[in-house]
Amino acid sequence: MTRKWCFVPKCTNTSRTAPHKIFITVPKDIKKKKLWFAAARRAISEVSEKSTLYCCEDHFNLEYDMANYMEYKLSNVRARIKEDVVPHLFITMQKETMSEPEEIIASTSGIIHKREAACQTTKLHFRKKKLRMYTGIPLNYLELIKILENKTNLKKQYIYLILYKIKSNDSFAKIGDFFGTSKSNACRIFSKGVHTLAEYMKKLIFWPSKKTIQINLPIQFRLSFSRVQSIIDCLEIEIQKPTAALQQSLSWSDYKKCNTLKYLISATPDGLINFISCGYGGRISDSALLEDCGYLEVLPENCAVMADRGFKQIEGLLNKKNCTLVRPPSVSSGKKMTAEEVVLQNALLASGFILNVL
Ligand SMILES: [Zn+2]
Repeated sequence: MTRKWCFVPKCTNTSRTAPHKIFITVPKDIKKKKLWFAAARRAISEVSEKSTLYCCEDHFNLEYDMANYMEYKLSNVRARIKEDVVPHLFITMQKETMSEPEEIIASTSGIIHKREAACQTTKLHFRKKKLRMYTGIPLNYLELIKILENKTNLKKQYIYLILYKIKSNDSFAKIGDFFGTSKSNACRIFSKGVHTLAEYMKKLIFWPSKKTIQINLPIQFRLSFSRVQSIIDCLEIEIQKPTAALQQSLSWSDYKKCNTLKYLISATPDGLINFISCGYGGRISDSALLEDCGYLEVLPENCAVMADRGFKQIEGLLNKKNCTLVRPPSVSSGKKMTAEEVVLQNALLASGFILNVL
């Protein structure tokens, strides 16, 4: 078999180095071929007219870009790309002019006029396999970005930038560099867009029905913890020290030794985040936050809640709803944990982990 090379500049995939990748034949039709070369930023004159060229699967989102994806998955037919699709995922950054919002600048004569402030910026192409690493969105939910783009009217680049900031919390200076724009513009895109994005994404946080949670209980829970509907923990995020003394004191966290905002987060036993409170000053106790944040209103009656030791005296609050509290075993007793206690310990550790990755 002849070796296939990917025709995209800087892509090093060949059928030998990446034998499991799909190599798609670059169209022979000159019109289409030109489009593919333009997309890959490669001069068509570089290659002989007759040679057969290939493009590796890394530059497509096969599930959406292929005309015969299902057929291909089920049988051994040749992969066909849809008519109007050209390679569009590249690891390299490509210079492109992206216009910024109109800026008003004062000219020397004192007349204020508008200028379309165009800035040389880099269009960012995520290597599709790293989508999760950059944005926290798994590849099979790529469609979500498209939906958000349509619903929010935010540019795809902006959505990536916002998700990237949330995921990495890099400084705006760094993010600006990464996305080929200025620090202040990156900051503006984020602070303007994050609320719009939140409006739509918060719909993904919901409390499934009691029955659904029970059906999806992990095996380890089924014997002794089948009533558990929610595992709760508090998450604290460090904030800049507020200037006002009162706010300073309200947000001071004794536990973290810095100013924080505190959130109550609940996950179902199978790991779905089903409740996030609004932010409270870090000084509030876990129990007071729980009582105030509306969690008790959405908690179904007659169930069990898992929580760690931070939540003091919440048993009474839960009992009002006929709910019970399940706590981790005390480590101090020095006794060997029973199987039940191990499950509990692990569940709390896992929920703590889920909350921390958040
Ligand atoms: Zn390639």
